[in-house]
Amino acid sequence: MRLMNIEEIVAKVPIVENIREAKETVWENPKARPFAEAKETLPLTASDLDDAEERLARFAPFIAKKFPETAPLHGIIESPLVEIDRMKSVLNQNYDAGIVGRLLLKQDSHLAVSGSVKARGGIYEVLKHTEDLALEHGLLHDDYTVFDSDASRAFFGKYAIHVGSTGNLGLSIGIMGAAIGYRTTVHMSVDAREWKKNLLRAKGVTVKEYTSDYSAAVREGRKLAAEDPFSYFVDDENSSTLFLGYAVAARRLKKQLAEKNVAVDASHPLIVYLPCGVGGAPGGITFGLKQEFGDNVICVFVEPVQAPCMLLGLATGLHDAICVRDVGLTGRTEADGLAVGRPSKFVGKTIETLVSGVVTVEDEKLYAYLRALLDSERIFIEPSACAAFHGAVKMHKMRRVLAQNGLDGERLRSACHLVWATGGSMVPEDEREAYCVVK
Ligand SMILES: *Cc1c(COP(=O)(O)O)cnc(C)c1O
Repeated sequence: MRLMNIEEIVAKVPIVENIREAKETVWENPKARPFAEAKETLPLTASDLDDAEERLARFAPFIAKKFPETAPLHGIIESPLVEIDRMKSVLNQNYDAGIVGRLLLKQDSHLAVSGSVKARGGIYEVLKHTEDLALEHGLLHDDYTVFDSDASRAFFGKYAIHVGSTGNLGLSIGIMGAAIGYRTTVHMSVDAREWKKNLLRAKGVTVKEYTSDYSAAVREGRKLAAEDPFSYFVDDENSSTLFLGYAVAARRLKKQLAEKNVAVDASHPLIVYLPCGVGGAPGGITFGLKQEFGDNVICVFVEPVQAPCMLLGLATGLHDAICVRDVGLTGRTEADGLAVGRPSKFVGKTIETLVSGVVTVEDEKLYAYLRALLDSERIFIEPSACAAFHGAVKMHKMRRVLAQNGLDGERLRSACHLVWATGGSMVPEDEREAYCVVK
């Protein structure tokens, strides 16, 4: 479908009427396919995942040395998986969620180094680029701790990295970029929080501020990087490298589930709820999970009602040829990590047969979930991350997804629900308190 006027789009895709009115929406993906079939057309494979996993393992000794908080996991940046039974009761009692099986929280909010899911994709892409340069210039033999030397930092100081960000991607790329020694510039959209910019400046990162949205910040970064031959642009809208960095999460999760005696098989499905911005993080994780669990995992994305870019792209099939402004939405949301108006076409095309559905959530509910999690479990996560809870609350409305996956009766009761908490541990205390004041 090409971009038509909005009335034509609504006539063809009726749910767009709901989306344009900024109403909470539950969309079930008619293009979702059994994995055996979907797999045939994917641009990436399990061996790409192996490659990413091995690269992170090679860098682990460097990371352990440079970021001592990762030493207990030997330089592997990974987050805890916890059961949140009290939160499950709150969701069932106050939000009519009807969750019967176990409810787990994947705490990427507490990932080392940069405190969000971006510590997967963003850091992985910086390391991949670093390895490529080092090999090209004969700098690297076996020992990756070489990157923690003055000589290495001096070498990488000749090179620049640019990235456009709503905040968290900038934190990840900026922190790791500075650790390697790159001249790093983060192009921050209007949504980015002040404390994230200050933290980066304190690390010697150049922060450029824009009064425009995420897509414009990305455009500017891409342009500046193109002018400088020593410069590399981390392209969140098109990067398969970022995507694979996120996807590695699935392998790690598989081990954690086994350690917790959570079975994932034909009679015990896993249902995963992922907050979505431009699509890379939830898309990469979905790709990885499908590789590991096939049809036994069901993935649902969640977006703010004012910034449902992936939903628009998928539902209309237009991907990046449509943006939220085209249907009269602002793109502005308190969920700064999800404040993206135009989705990634690369991600949309890759996951369009894998993701089961997308739901949207109003901003004020994010704060309600934030406080509920804090009160019931003493866990703080940022508003963007709280979007995932809304997926768990709305799952019982996805009737077609439930029916197609045989999720009635016993099988639904045996399902495990997993909320992917994508950020929060680095949020300063005063910001946390402000989030907790009832608005
Ligand atoms: C970036 C981000 C997301 C979404 O990731 P995308 O790759 O933009 O879809 C979700 N939650 C938080 C906290 C984020 O920072």
